[in-house]
Parts: sequence; C-alpha cells; structure tokens
Amino acid sequence: MIEFTVFYLIFVFCFIFPPSAFVSAGITVSNLFDSWLGSEDLQFVQYHLSRTLVTVIIHSLLPLGFFGGVLLVEGYAQLLLLVQTPLGLGFLSLSVLLPAAAAFKVFFWWTNNWSSHPLVNSLTSYANNGRQWNDVASEINAEFRRIDKVTVRTNPVSKTVVTNSWIIKVEPYVVQVAHQNHVSLQLENAEEHTYTADSQTAQYLWVNVEHIQTKQKLFTIRLNAVDYADMQDRLQTRISNVRGLLINQDVHARFSKVFIEEVSLNPVFQSQEEMDPCLGCAVNSANIRLIRRCLPTGNADGCTPCFCRPMWCIHCLSKWFSARQDAEHPESWLMSRCPCPTCRSPFCVLDVSLVETVENI
Ligand SMILES: [Zn+2]
Ligand SMILES: [Zn+2]
Ligand SMILES: [Zn+2]
Repeated sequence: MIEFTVFYLIFVFCFIFPPSAFVSAGITVSNLFDSWLGSEDLQFVQYHLSRTLVTVIIHSLLPLGFFGGVLLVEGYAQLLLLVQTPLGLGFLSLSVLLPAAAAFKVFFWWTNNWSSHPLVNSLTSYANNGRQWNDVASEINAEFRRIDKVTVRTNPVSKTVVTNSWIIKVEPYVVQVAHQNHVSLQLENAEEHTYTADSQTAQYLWVNVEHIQTKQKLFTIRLNAVDYADMQDRLQTRISNVRGLLINQDVHARFSKVFIEEVSLNPVFQSQEEMDPCLGCAVNSANIRLIRRCLPTGNADGCTPCFCRPMWCIHCLSKWFSARQDAEHPESWLMSRCPCPTCRSPFCVLDVSLVETVENI
C-alpha cells in the first residue's frame, strides 16, 4: 500500500508538472486530448478554452484515480480496509466532491457560449465599438499564426507568447491576455541560479505587466535572461528597468538577435502544412527551411542544397549555428557556414528561410 501511494504521488506530481520524459512520452493533458482540442496554431483561443476545461476536469479526477489504482493493484479487500479508516473515508469523500465541483465549474464556463470563462472575460474587456469577444479572439488567432511571434517558456506548464499587439500568458487553468497598448512592463527582479553539474549560471528575470491607467498588476512573466532580447524586440514599448538590474546576455544571445534580423530579410517560404514542434525546444513550431540561395563558390566547402522539411525554429537554429562557430572570433560568425542539423549539408545565413503557414483555401 505504501509503495503504491508513493508511486501514485510521484505520478500525479509528474502529470501536473511534466518533466521532459513525460512530455516526450505524450503523457500530458494537451497530448492525450490532442484530437479533441484541435490546433493551437490555427484556433489559439478556442484551443485554450477547451484545454483549460479538460485540464480542470482531468486534474480533479486524480485523487479519485488513487482509489481506482488501489482497487486495481491492491485488490478489493485492501480498498475496503482503506475506506473504513476515518482518514480514508474523508479522502474518498473529498475525491468525489472535487470532480463534482470541477464539473459544475466547467459547465458554468461552457454554457452561454463560454461567456463566464476567465479568458473570455478578459477578451470581452477589449471588445468595444460593437465588437464581440469572438472578434477579439479572431484577431489573437491571426496574430498567433504569424511567424514573428515570440514564445518564452520557463517551466513545462506555462509560457508567455508575445505577438504583434498582444501579450498572452498561458498556464494550466488560466490564460491571460493583455493588449500591448494598454499595459506597461517593469523589470521587477533578477535571480541567478547555479547548476552544480557544470557550474553554469542562468539568470531569471521577473517582468510585471501592469494596466497603464489603473496601475493594476495583470500578471508576471518569468523568463530566462537569454530570451530577454527576443521578447523586448517583439514589444512595442520598452520594459522599464527602474531598479537598474543588470541583465546577462551572452554572446550567443546577441548573435541570435543579429542572425534573426538577417534571416528576416530573406524571402519567406509559404507552406500549407501544419508545422511540427521544433526539435530543439518543443515550444515554438518549426519555422525554418533551408533553401540554397547563395552563389556557388566552386570550393568543396561551399553550401549544398538541403531537402529537409522544417523541423527547427529560428531561435534554436541560431543557437545551433553559433555553437558551431569559432568561439574566439564572433565577428566572423555571420559570414560562416554550418551543417544542417538533420542532413549535415552546409548552409549560410542567406539560405535560411522563415516558413509562413498559410491556411488551405
Ligand atoms: Zn526551437
Ligand atoms: Zn538538411
Ligand atoms: Zn549558402
């Protein structure tokens, strides 16, 4: 019984905060209900309305799952013994009440065209001049489909997406949106973490998102300092740093910015296929295709064509590229070549195309 309880507790923890092994095995709510949830890329708001609903229901069933597990693993007699103890009976009653309360909650969300869902409430606050929340949702969906959004993720269950005009924080039960014109951002804190294995340090930043007029704090974004430049680039306002915190951006992060700027000058590749998650980060969709565009050099070490389908995002490709350059001479990186992560054909910055997903007509 003790062994099963410990196993179940670990399982529940890993299910709610999935480590990478769980994510790659597909044991996450969004993966298990993939076919029902639809496509995040095409219908971002609708996807997250359904996803928060499913997450609340599934998580609320986890305590009851414990009793199901005891029945399966330990047998009926053990289960009966368990529920005869006051603690067991109390836990069982809670386990039954929790899904009932969750079902009530999500039914309340789902009725009346989602009008009570917190995400719809925040969309409604932007629906003025005769617009409905659906109109705001379509605007967000369209911006989320664009290749120029920036996604930062600091843990497996939450991420922040910055599109042309929106800042969106996605968490298991809640999705919050803020229009860039209505908010101001402040750098609140910076913390250093040292990983003992290779004694590398990573810096994490806390950015507050506040309503510009009411000064109400909407949410906080926690991000790795190396993603700071990407996020700042996508924002229309500057993140104010009144406390004068020092931000550590390494040479790779600075190169990444220049690399992405150069790539965005190249022609865009249009595709009707839905993109897989990037093999490097699994956060962004793959959005890079290598199409040889530079002139042949005649040398053996020139670029060669690559026929790989898009499998990487631009951020991961830029890190892959800079990691393969001469660390002593960062000034030569942009003119250099690097092998395709998949087929090893050498490419240069001119051969990198961003992929734009266009909807089937
Ligand atoms: Zn990536
Ligand atoms: Zn290739
Ligand atoms: Zn080339």
